Amino acid sequence: MKLFELTTSLMSIPSTSGEEEAVGFWLRDHLQSLGWKVELQPVDEGRTGASASRQNNVIAWLNDTPRVWFSTHMDTVPPFIEPSEDEEKIYGRGSCDAKGIIAAQITAAEELRSEGVEDIGLLYTVEEERSSTGARAANDHPLSAKCEYLINGEPTDNDLGIGSKGTFRLKIKTTGKAAHSAYPEQGDSAIEKLLDILEDVRHTKFPHDDFFGETTVNIGTIEGGAALNVIPPTAEAGLAIRLTTPRAPIEEALRSVVRARGQIEVLSCSEPVRMLAVDSFAQKVVRFTTDIPYLTNWGQPLLLGPGSILVAHTKDEFVLKKDLEHAVRLYVDLAKRLLATNVHE
Ligand SMILES: [Zn+2]
Repeated sequence: MKLFELTTSLMSIPSTSGEEEAVGFWLRDHLQSLGWKVELQPVDEGRTGASASRQNNVIAWLNDTPRVWFSTHMDTVPPFIEPSEDEEKIYGRGSCDAKGIIAAQITAAEELRSEGVEDIGLLYTVEEERSSTGARAANDHPLSAKCEYLINGEPTDNDLGIGSKGTFRLKIKTTGKAAHSAYPEQGDSAIEKLLDILEDVRHTKFPHDDFFGETTVNIGTIEGGAALNVIPPTAEAGLAIRLTTPRAPIEEALRSVVRARGQIEVLSCSEPVRMLAVDSFAQKVVRFTTDIPYLTNWGQPLLLGPGSILVAHTKDEFVLKKDLEHAVRLYVDLAKRLLATNVHE
């Protein structure tokens, strides 16, 4: 199957996070038909109910000790958008994030194989777009021990991502005292407290890192209050902070802003990571998070993929066909370069 057909075939199977079973089966069958050894690694332990679809990572290899692995995720954000194409582009959900990448990696792997290079593996995870549960499960897989380089794919415009910011997700919660809105002195507004805290957060200077750049804060959600005529007893805001330093100093700065006015509830955190730089590849730091922080047993990470993160997750998601083709060349070159070096030197 050719590159573009492989991309649209993968895209035509809906696989919103949590619903990756069908695309995993399709990938297994496709890779087996090409002669790969394929394992489906279950990652849905603890999920119950007849309607819960099974989730499996797809792990494929040729010889038993592959040193270089390609990886990305099979899930997409909602909603499903059917694939379509013209001369120049493939449109629809997953075109750039990340089914076009899966297609480019498989095409590259097959090309390497046709040249006699069999020291390669393929790892396709579930749930990257939610909490990387697939990657966490994959980290314990025995084949990880043999892996020296993991080429992870996300839309980097075909530049080598040499660093990615971390993500610190948290809630700030305030409490007050309900009262009739005509008698505000009887109550204590949780929303006004929250607004004061958020105003201070907006004016807080978080650290700048010379390599990773600015720490940025998105106040993504605000909830609170009971009714227009009630002094609000509770309020909360959800924040996503793109980390350029370890979490600890940022959390400390935040706690000194919030003080006793509210509580901080930590939802999740991934620290910023540095990836391997390789001469002659265009390089940059990316601001988004990947599976890489959870694949620590899979050797030295690298990040490269066709398409733009700016159209990923949008209704206008697309990938340029020439970028998919270019990615195949880059993946082949990168794998050869890595296989020619000895990580233990
Ligand atoms: Zn992605």
